[in-house]
Amino acid sequence: MTTPCIISVAITGSVPQKKDNPAVPISAAEQVESTQQAFEAGATLVHLHVRNADGTTSSDPERFARVQEGLRQHCPGIIIQFSTGGRSGTGHERGAMLPLRPDMASLATGSCNFPTRIYENSPELVDWLAAEMIKYDVKPEVEAFDLSMIFQAVKMAQDGRIRGPLHAQFVMGVKNAMPVDRETFEFYVRTLRRLAPDATWTGAGIGSGQLKLAHWSLELGGHCRTGLEDNIRRDKDHLASSNAALVEQVAALCPNYDRHPASVAEARQLLSLPPAG
Ligand code: ZN
Repeated sequence: MTTPCIISVAITGSVPQKKDNPAVPISAAEQVESTQQAFEAGATLVHLHVRNADGTTSSDPERFARVQEGLRQHCPGIIIQFSTGGRSGTGHERGAMLPLRPDMASLATGSCNFPTRIYENSPELVDWLAAEMIKYDVKPEVEAFDLSMIFQAVKMAQDGRIRGPLHAQFVMGVKNAMPVDRETFEFYVRTLRRLAPDATWTGAGIGSGQLKLAHWSLELGGHCRTGLEDNIRRDKDHLASSNAALVEQVAALCPNYDRHPASVAEARQLLSLPPAG
């Protein structure tokens, strides 16, 4: 028996990159189609930003609603996760789509530097986003860009500001934040296990770190994130042809670690989400 690995696909980043890889889906129809292909390739969780027609990031709940509706229709049971990241508007705008009750939403529990700016998550904003997630029954995925964010998430779960069991994502390879580093990665895993034994986790590597983190996560019992948001390349010399192609790459690694891509039912059970309706 192999153990399931939830493959998350981050289909569209918040930073305009269409000019770099035309495979990045922008319109709602493109996003639904790209997700459906990734779903058929083995992804069971989609992480979502939405864009305006000109490719700039949007925080319009109406656009999130349109994609959500298409995904529910074409990818039955897929776990829908909205990004509340720094580019989905500013301040409370970042949670304006939470009343749509996606299955999950991302939640950074601290601030750090990004390539050209500060990824600013004030304590007030973090608490407000977390409270909105409780109000609308949305499970957070804690985006941990450094160790303190893991501690903060555990504290919030203990205080009841986040509903457990925790799900954390260890993000490595963002320029000016935590680089891709094996010892730190192992320490993240050990720390989360020690502080929150029932927590689940995913490894997310940026750029050339994407595949490396997939290997490490499969090896250490975690889940994997891939997709064009984090990495537009299949390898050093080739652009990825689609989100599905990146998902296939991770799915193909699973057997090497006695893992298999989780089914919708397995993914929902692992994350303590209700079964697909
Ligand atoms: Zn994102």
